[in-house]
Amino acid sequence: MPVTAHLLTALVIAFAAGACSPEPPSKPRAAPPAGADPAPIPAKTVVLTFDDAFRSHLDFVAPILGHHGFGATFFITARWMDDREHYLDFEGVAALHRLGFEIGNHTHDHTYHFSAEDAPALPGQIRRLDEALAAVGVPRPVTFGWTANSFGPEALGLLRDEGYRFARRGRGPEYPLSGLSRGARYDPRLHHRLLIPASVVNSEWTVPHFRSLAREAVAGTAMVFQFHGVPDHAGPHLSVRPDTFRAFMAVLAEEGFNVLAIRDLSRYGVERIPSQDPMTKVRYSSFD
Ligand SMILES: [Zn+2]
Repeated sequence: MPVTAHLLTALVIAFAAGACSPEPPSKPRAAPPAGADPAPIPAKTVVLTFDDAFRSHLDFVAPILGHHGFGATFFITARWMDDREHYLDFEGVAALHRLGFEIGNHTHDHTYHFSAEDAPALPGQIRRLDEALAAVGVPRPVTFGWTANSFGPEALGLLRDEGYRFARRGRGPEYPLSGLSRGARYDPRLHHRLLIPASVVNSEWTVPHFRSLAREAVAGTAMVFQFHGVPDHAGPHLSVRPDTFRAFMAVLAEEGFNVLAIRDLSRYGVERIPSQDPMTKVRYSSFD
């Protein structure tokens, strides 16, 4: 296709994406850094993410990450905050922010937006969580976590309109949801920045499995891991025992991994790398 046709297509897509947004965001989220092209992602880069605002994230996980000097992204939802025994409230989320960790948006009510009919409710869910975070001094997130790791093209357009810089999905559809699972290695040349794949850690994972996946992180790529509760009372299959988690982090420390939050990927200019990701046109639901 000639360049002008590319431009025209891009304009049509941009117009269509803008037209389906109910209203513009109240203010833009932080822009990607300008200037000279930065170095690519270095070898041995791992991204840690933690979903659903479990109390164990502040009480147990954060001190271990802090001890090792690791970055991480915590994806917050208010869905289960009434259960104060097992989940954080917003003050707890603010404490994670003050410790230097990234706070990501995971919708206010943990709603699902992969279908065309459910996509329009996404901006309202995002903004409601943004407001609750702002009330405790947490800045507007720049990273979104797809609920149930499920996504669709309409919601993707709305996320873009909301100014999101990054969003993380899971292991599907490329890898099965059961067994000693894994997800694709994130490569900004292959994966759209709003569809970053992750390996979902479950109760079957062993230290050798975790180590072998982390070691796949060659230069230009990153291995992204998705944790839930440590341990997880709600979903035994997604639970990771505290001693196992400690061992996983020790592997990363002993082998000198570069351990980051998702937002830190902008250091390596990944937002400027054009990806050819067929997933931008895919509708995927982990419920199917
Ligand atoms: Zn979740």
